[in-house]
Amino acid sequence: MRVSLVLPNSSIYGPGLRTVVWTQGCSIRCPGCWNDALWDFKGGYKLDAEEIVEEAITNGNLGITILGGEPLDQVESVKELINLSHENDLNLMLYTGYEEEELNEKQRYCIDNADIVVIGRYVDGLRSEELLWRGSTNQRIIWNMDIPEGIDLSERRQVEVRLENNGNFRILGYPSDSMIMNYTKRFGKLKGISKERGKI
Ligand code: SF4
Repeated sequence: MRVSLVLPNSSIYGPGLRTVVWTQGCSIRCPGCWNDALWDFKGGYKLDAEEIVEEAITNGNLGITILGGEPLDQVESVKELINLSHENDLNLMLYTGYEEEELNEKQRYCIDNADIVVIGRYVDGLRSEELLWRGSTNQRIIWNMDIPEGIDLSERRQVEVRLENNGNFRILGYPSDSMIMNYTKRFGKLKGISKERGKI
């Protein structure tokens, strides 16, 4: 699989602590996409499904979330990751910008066998920073597993601040303008904020 980034122990892309995989390459190219650095299929690096599953197991994570880029542009690799995750008692959450009527047979397999799916184009005019796990209001969450008890499914802004081994901060999700301003005052200009909107 061609990936841009893999981070274990994240809690804002699905239920519980998860290993999150940003795939590299997207053919859909939604206008206003904040991850356009992930469109190029030549970027990133290669990683096997075994290595991703191993990362999740080593960190004691509940599951794996795969987003993009467009995961279903690498459908064979996603299929392999779904099956390997299940063999190792990990649940798999899949993001796709494809609509249901566009799916081919292999992509359909992935939608039907992933445990949770966030499906649909990112539509810039329907953008909201207050949605659970989604970027625009047209996108839907499909549950193919029982919804875990006690889970908070309320729509809300989610932000994750991570202190990395090299001492840098990484901010995931939708930091508010005031949060960005405060961080900028304390730590200087933040890298990686795109579209002047704070999505990282
Ligand atoms: S599918 Fe995702 S990565 Fe691809 S253009 Fe749309 S929002 Fe961006």
